[in-house]
Amino acid sequence: MLAQILMHYVLSSRHCLLCNKNEIDSPLCHRCLTNLPLLKGQRCAVCGTPLLSEYNICMRCRDRQFSFIRNHSLFAYEGAVKELIYQYKFNNEKRLAEVFAHLLFYEYLSDNPYPTVIVPVPARKVTIQRRGWDHMETISRCLKKKYNVSVVNLLERKGKTSQKSLDYEGRIHNLRGKIHVKKYQSPMPEKVILIDDVFTTGATLEQCTVALHSAGVKEVETLTLALD
Ligand SMILES: [Zn+2]
Ligand SMILES: [Zn+2]
Repeated sequence: MLAQILMHYVLSSRHCLLCNKNEIDSPLCHRCLTNLPLLKGQRCAVCGTPLLSEYNICMRCRDRQFSFIRNHSLFAYEGAVKELIYQYKFNNEKRLAEVFAHLLFYEYLSDNPYPTVIVPVPARKVTIQRRGWDHMETISRCLKKKYNVSVVNLLERKGKTSQKSLDYEGRIHNLRGKIHVKKYQSPMPEKVILIDDVFTTGATLEQCTVALHSAGVKEVETLTLALD
């Protein structure tokens, strides 16, 4: 049985997760990786949503005040990208952490003019216990190891309730007091980039930013793989 499981892993680990092309050393073949559709064109200066007829700031951000300076998302949360995030988080395809780190680095962080300190948005403790690992912390570790990006795991998260069915106000209420900055010996970084997988309402990133500000971080930018 164990041999079968191992054989399945060895075989499946040599197939592209999107097109099933075999005999590759990465979870995605080169073609599928370079075909992922980056968000392009005019974007909201705050949340990064593609703009249609609005100027500079989207309708949502006109009546909502975020504490972070701006959000940048690489992709829309749909199609292949949605599938990959699902495979990573719910199908235990941990190898995708390297692919996501590669994309975050080459499509954004490598062009960032500031000294970058990355802070991953922490998963809920109950999720970490169930899954056995923290999905954004794992990507951050790849960023540190492979691209020498400075990473500080500043945040921790309490609470069990899922955010999925809640709107922005509900999510903010649900998260209030549940995201904290851990005890940290070194001086707080002045500016950080918070990273997460999906920007949905922005509530989690907002609460993380509020916690970071109250601990002395001055500027927070956010970066996510996808925008829902
Ligand atoms: Zn492929
Ligand atoms: Zn916006």
